[in-house]
Amino acid sequence: MNTPRSLHTLLAAAAALLVCGCDVNPVTGSSELSFVSEQDEIRIGQAQYGPSQQSQGGVLTLYPELNAYVSRVGMSLARVSERPELPYEFVILDNSVPNAWALPGGKIAVNRGLLYELEDEAQLAAVLGHEIVHAAARHGAKQQEKGTLLNIGLAVIGVATAGTGMQDLAMQGAQLGGALVQTRYGRDAELESDRYGMQYMARAGYDLQGAVALQQRFVQLSGSQQPAGYGALFASHPPSQERVDANLRTAAKLGTTGRDGRAEFQRAMAALKRDRPAYAAHAKGMTAMSQNRYAEALKYSREAIRLQDREAQFHELAGAAQLRLDQPAEAIKSLNRAVALNQSYYRPYLTRGMLHLKRGNLDVAKQDLSVANRLLPTADATFGLGEIAQREGDVETALRYYDPVARSQSPLAPEARNRIARLNPGSGYQRQ
Ligand SMILES: [Zn+2]
Repeated sequence: MNTPRSLHTLLAAAAALLVCGCDVNPVTGSSELSFVSEQDEIRIGQAQYGPSQQSQGGVLTLYPELNAYVSRVGMSLARVSERPELPYEFVILDNSVPNAWALPGGKIAVNRGLLYELEDEAQLAAVLGHEIVHAAARHGAKQQEKGTLLNIGLAVIGVATAGTGMQDLAMQGAQLGGALVQTRYGRDAELESDRYGMQYMARAGYDLQGAVALQQRFVQLSGSQQPAGYGALFASHPPSQERVDANLRTAAKLGTTGRDGRAEFQRAMAALKRDRPAYAAHAKGMTAMSQNRYAEALKYSREAIRLQDREAQFHELAGAAQLRLDQPAEAIKSLNRAVALNQSYYRPYLTRGMLHLKRGNLDVAKQDLSVANRLLPTADATFGLGEIAQREGDVETALRYYDPVARSQSPLAPEARNRIARLNPGSGYQRQ
């Protein structure tokens, strides 16, 4: 009973590896080995949902009614799945890359960029039904059992039990989220997800043509002239004529008499569609930013803000560009606005915290970087917190922050090792 929780969990996971759990797949009914219990599936999904959302742009907060709509459509499908009792959740992420993903335990996300590609509710149901199967049929959990994601599974436990202090593995939050989100399930799992997803669609009363049309659109897009950003979607869900044909067969078998929900979908999407030019300007600004064309990035951010001034990411882009253009006072103003509009996304806090640190405002910097780290632990914020502690003369705290950075893959790792070597010559790190 006195065993630390994380150690206890690790022991349980290790024990599970030694015992073969023979089980029936809850969706397909075929028998399979299972090492990850339902409780673990749910815990992994719950622990990774937040960091995965954060590392993929955060929740789209500007259209609460659209979020509720997507959630309603998702729940109507989850309810008729083989595992209606899983703690399903559906969110829209503020990300222009057309993508969707599912974590074990029913934690599902669809990007703003994918919604723009859909035409009716049946197509949305096809996306969500497909992702529900990935979760319900334990495709992600099975990857873990195969060993490909085993380390991640164990590391997730480290993240889940972090909370109190600086756990070594917490640093990898972003990478873990990314790895789970970009999982490739393979051809069989994709076909399985299409097939059972269409069954959920039929049970929920949707026109199965939606699944056929969606897959046809993807095949079209994955051709020679695929728009930038489609890589992520097609890497995790490779489209193919084989999948189109399989969907046609499934539709013929199950019938296509359901509703397409075009009017409902168009109504729910109206506000987001109206803002599409603003997001397009923002996307151009992000590209300019990544190519170090800061004045141009600022110009695009202003255009986006002129079209829609309540989107936090537009103000964040303005702030980041102003920072690079050496306009710190304007940058702080823009970042303040970004944070005021959306308190649930780590990045504006991180950028503002680093700026305050640079200007020597240690107290506000500490506050911002702590909030950023609570939302998504990053090497940058952690290193910054170490620097603040060091400047305040608190060597012990500084070392506690530098330590996980020193052992991470971050570009800051060598400098963190350097500082540890200087502050604590007995640490084993060599000064460079
Ligand atoms: Zn898939």
